[in-house]
Amino acid sequence: MYKRIGILGGLTPESTITYYMHIVHKYHENYGNHGYPECVIYGVSFQKYEDWMKTEDWESIEKALLEGLRNLRMAGVDFAVIATNTMHILFDKLQAQVDFPLLSIVDATAEAIKSKSLTNVGLIGTSFTMSKPFYRGGLAKHGIEVITPNKADQDYIGKVIFEELSIGKIREESRQGYLKIIGELVDKGAQGIVLGCTEIPLLIRQRDTNVPVFDTATIHAEKALQYALID
Ligand code: GLU
Repeated sequence: MYKRIGILGGLTPESTITYYMHIVHKYHENYGNHGYPECVIYGVSFQKYEDWMKTEDWESIEKALLEGLRNLRMAGVDFAVIATNTMHILFDKLQAQVDFPLLSIVDATAEAIKSKSLTNVGLIGTSFTMSKPFYRGGLAKHGIEVITPNKADQDYIGKVIFEELSIGKIREESRQGYLKIIGELVDKGAQGIVLGCTEIPLLIRQRDTNVPVFDTATIHAEKALQYALID
C-alpha cells in the first residue's frame, strides 16, 4: 500500500493541477499502469490569501493553512505538500503543529540543484520568495548561493504572477520579459535558475533557455510521488 498524498493547493489552482497530473503521469510512465498513490487535494479560496499577503498578515495565513492541513489529515493523508513556494515562509511553524510529515519545496529544490552539481543559482518568484530570508537561507543550508533580480524586476515578476499566471494567462511578451531577467541573472553568475513560484513553469520551460531551469512545482510533485512509494 502506498502512502496517501495530501496536496494543499489552490495557491494557485493553475499549479495545483501540475502536481496532480505529474503524480499520475509519472507513475504511469514508470510502471505502465494506473496504480498511482491516492491523492487528496484541498484547494483553498485564494482571494483572502492574496489580501493577507498585501498586508503581510502571516498570522491569518498560518491559521488558514493549518486548517487546510488538518482537513487533509481528516481525509486520511499520510503526509502533505504545500503546493506553493511563498507559503514555505511558514513551513517550520506549520510542521510543528501537525502530527504528519510535510515535504519542503525548498529542500526538494536544493536536492535537484545539487544533483546537477550547481552552487550558484538565480531565483525568481514572488517578492516574498525573492526578498525574505526563508528561501535564500533554505538553499544556503545546502551550500547553494542565490542571486535575485533588482527591485524593479522583482515587481515586474510579481505582477505577471498575480495578474496573469495565477489565472492561466500566458503571454509571449511576459515570457520575453522573464527571459531578459533570466539572462541578466546568468550574466551575474547564476549557473541555473530556480523557477521559485509554482506558476512560473507555465510560462518558462527548459526549451526556452540554455541555462538549466528548476521547475519547483514538478520537483515538489516528484518528491511527493517518490515519498508515497517508499515503505
Ligand atoms: N504559487 C506561487 C508560489 O509558488 C505564488 C502564489 C502564492 O502566493 O501562493 O510562490
